[in-house]
Amino acid sequence: HLPTAELQAIDAAHHLHPFTTGDELTQKGARIIASAKGIYLKDSEGEEILDAMAGLWCVNIGYGRDELADVAARQMRELPYYNTFFQTSHVPAIALAQKLAELAPGDLNHVFYANGGSDANDTNIRMVRTYWAEKGQPEKKTIISRWNAYHGSTIGGTSLGGMKGMHEQGDLPIPGIEFIEQPNWWAEGGDMDPEDFGLARARELEEKILEIGEDKVAAFIAEPIQGAGGVIVAPDSYWPEIQRICDKYEILLIADEVICGFGRTGNWFGSQTLDIRPDIMTVAKGLSSGYAPIGASIVSDEVAKVLEACEFNHGYTYSGHPVACAVALENLRILEEEGILEHVQNVAAPHLAEKWKSLEDHPMVGEAKIVGLMASIALTPNKETRASFAADAGTVGYITRECCFGNNLIMRHVGDRMIISPPLVITPEEIDILIERARKSLDEAYEKVRD
Ligand code: PLP
Repeated sequence: HLPTAELQAIDAAHHLHPFTTGDELTQKGARIIASAKGIYLKDSEGEEILDAMAGLWCVNIGYGRDELADVAARQMRELPYYNTFFQTSHVPAIALAQKLAELAPGDLNHVFYANGGSDANDTNIRMVRTYWAEKGQPEKKTIISRWNAYHGSTIGGTSLGGMKGMHEQGDLPIPGIEFIEQPNWWAEGGDMDPEDFGLARARELEEKILEIGEDKVAAFIAEPIQGAGGVIVAPDSYWPEIQRICDKYEILLIADEVICGFGRTGNWFGSQTLDIRPDIMTVAKGLSSGYAPIGASIVSDEVAKVLEACEFNHGYTYSGHPVACAVALENLRILEEEGILEHVQNVAAPHLAEKWKSLEDHPMVGEAKIVGLMASIALTPNKETRASFAADAGTVGYITRECCFGNNLIMRHVGDRMIISPPLVITPEEIDILIERARKSLDEAYEKVRD
């Protein structure tokens, strides 16, 4: 390929990147990723980078699995495309739906395919509104979400998300989306006991329902553990109370499992780890380990029954794309047959938890949070008061991320929280390397920002 500098120049000139400023591209140039194996990326200069984010939280089985490439090639030769509209179907879509129904908790037995998480969440908006309308309650259409949540970048996904900076671009949210605060004790809990804080934040859902009117609220959407919001783990008191409130007011519970699904928290789904009983789950990312774009809404018997009784006028050209379904199915086979969830539970997560928690002794690190293989640390100038670097929130996180990059480690920052979600196949030895590079990067960042 062309020399790196030339690639970077062409990239800056012609490629509009998501979530990146033009200045970042012209001044520094993008790092060009050329290939990848296991948990390591290789850039166009031959540098090996430890990918502690599994891409965008998705490459659960690790990079470079030939089985998926073989399955994709075979499927492309046999049936590269057909749709699932108007009474047609095909084997990969059928087999994957059956497998997902088997893995999903409770009676979530029905799969509506999308291309990724954003459009699966768009599906959910139309689905829950159609559900209540078909049940004779068309007014029941408001969806409650949480500030600082990320549910995608489409108009629907951005609206469901609680990121104010995203709302500003495009005059969003759409009408009928309301928000409650997130259960982020570290940043917002003040002097409260974490469990009391968790309960108080959950009860905001009840207050919001009563404010809007229970006959007007269709659903509550949340990730079991908020990912892109900063790996925010709610206090234990939070989810049982949310579940109680959804049950009491007959509000559909949508668990956005786009990050938490497929082993990330040690179980197939985050809802199982946190004992949540959703009516609908959004899945994507780890469903195919990112090898093919695919997402889905997995819905309960009751929701499916109502949707099947009408004609749900919704679908994407690539809903249930045969190649993506075949790849996803092979990915699930690998996760299952190689015991990767057991590896997370018994080997990788305990080892990472011990090492990750040890970062709390760093002068700049406040709380370290971890569930399964998703983890965060809060950066703070004062551990006692849990202060943030408020004047320029995000800057210290950004500097730390840059130091990680310099040390060939991909960690992400959300404001001043550093987050990781490595491939689930990561070994204890690789975790040690990850922690070593993280610590070195924190030291370097601390040198830059102290005083
Ligand atoms: N929901 C959650 C929780 C996500 O983290 C994401 C992506 O990061 C999405 C939805 C959107 O998924 P996609 O980028 O596949 O559209």
